[in-house]
Amino acid sequence: MAKVRGGPALIGGASCCGALGFMDRSHKVDIGGLLAGSRQLMVVNDEVPIEPFEGLVFPEPVRVELELRQADRMLVVEGSVDARVHGQCDGCLADVDLQLHVDVDERLDPAHGREVEPFGESNVLTGDRLDVADLAQQSVLTALPMGLRCSAECRGLCPACGANRNTGECSCPSAQI
Ligand SMILES: [Zn+2]
Ligand SMILES: [Zn+2]
Repeated sequence: MAKVRGGPALIGGASCCGALGFMDRSHKVDIGGLLAGSRQLMVVNDEVPIEPFEGLVFPEPVRVELELRQADRMLVVEGSVDARVHGQCDGCLADVDLQLHVDVDERLDPAHGREVEPFGESNVLTGDRLDVADLAQQSVLTALPMGLRCSAECRGLCPACGANRNTGECSCPSAQI
């Protein structure tokens, strides 16, 4: 019982986050002080990895810069989310890299533990914890274009031979569909 084994028996088992200790990737911000009025402003700078989504990948973590304030018992979230999106052109299948800049200007209702709009079914705000990763993901997904295009003038692929019409004419009869 009196044996000293060089340190605490629990290594890495302690948690600073109580019941949320099982979460490894913590992109949650405690806004309790903000809601209680002891803090006027919180600044969030975070980088959040985002899972691939419908053929689109996010090769680097999304950059999140937010300012959090309380106004009229609402949590005001203002700032921006910047993401690099990689995918294929819907027309010609060429690789497309898209830099996405999303302005964030949201009012979330802490009293309901959920937000008014547009994240109705998510868990962006739970109690006094703002999930920055969730917010970033929702912001990016809602801002994604319906389909990536390499350019507005993309001519797509020939439906007959599959040639890329952006790089030249194929020899198929033009009447053929
Ligand atoms: Zn294209
Ligand atoms: Zn062709």
